[in-house]
Amino acid sequence: MQWKDLKARLLAVGQARLTGEPAEQYIARSAAGPGAGGIGAVFFAMGSHRVKLAISPLSSIEIAHRGNGTADLFFEGQCISGHLLEPGFHCPDQAFITVTGSCIFRCRYCSVPRIGGKRKTIEEIMKMVESVRDRVHAISITSGVLSTIEEEETYVSEVIQHLTPYNLPIGVSIYPTVTTPDRLKDLGVAEVKFNLEAATPELFSQMCPGLDYGLLWQVLDRSVHLFGKNRVFSNVIVGLGETDEELETCIKKLTSLGVIPVLRPLNPVAGLAGTPRPSAERLKKIFAIHERALAAAALEPRLAMTMCTNCAGCDLVPGRDA
Ligand code: SF4
Repeated sequence: MQWKDLKARLLAVGQARLTGEPAEQYIARSAAGPGAGGIGAVFFAMGSHRVKLAISPLSSIEIAHRGNGTADLFFEGQCISGHLLEPGFHCPDQAFITVTGSCIFRCRYCSVPRIGGKRKTIEEIMKMVESVRDRVHAISITSGVLSTIEEEETYVSEVIQHLTPYNLPIGVSIYPTVTTPDRLKDLGVAEVKFNLEAATPELFSQMCPGLDYGLLWQVLDRSVHLFGKNRVFSNVIVGLGETDEELETCIKKLTSLGVIPVLRPLNPVAGLAGTPRPSAERLKKIFAIHERALAAAALEPRLAMTMCTNCAGCDLVPGRDA
């Protein structure tokens, strides 16, 4: 089976049972993104390919840790040998840090408001980066919203000022104001990700009440002018109720602006618990659309230095997952 097919099928399940030798050092715990607040996740790798699966004792997929990271994945009667990757923070090779673990907004697909984590101090964040400095090649920053979008942007900017001396590429994904791209560019940030989340404005207003879809497009456009091609990203969730045609329109609109879409299979939590995950067939169909749209716009995800397109754990990424 080709890796791309296997990964699509694993992402359609999204979870694995972890058995065998103790694997504590390989478990990633996250305050944001898919699996936030759960019992953790593991990154299973085969050569240069990887997939992130949430740990669930009830999953049909088993990952047996044999020791020192070597692992066998059992799925649909097959045994696939590979290894577990040790996370930096949140994902392998990066210090991907959530600055504020709570949020004033209530996007239906997101568990961050329910987790209601605290805001990290600058000192805490610097200590986290220092603790993994020798095994990460990038710093990525995301955040909920503690009080207002403007206040969050100001605090994150302060955090970034303290992180630039580490001399690592910094990626930032926060909910933006109209001036966020200019501000982040001035701070020396390398890449930005502003998440559309929904493929259509109608779905966005149902999913993210109180947030502004038009502003996100405006900010993405401005970001490409400032950061350049292959440096601007946007998550779009697959499985919120959009059609393939709507998703294709959104993907092409993003790539024609110079933005690399991150097509994230729905992880049904929070207000969407019980919604089905997208099937492997649909993920593969969307992957083909994604691949063609990126090629037509001469965009190359493999050049990403930070955040999800560099990590490639949670999504099928053209150029990485062949
Ligand atoms: S793809 Fe993104 S959300 Fe998923 S583990 Fe990697 S960095 Fe985190």
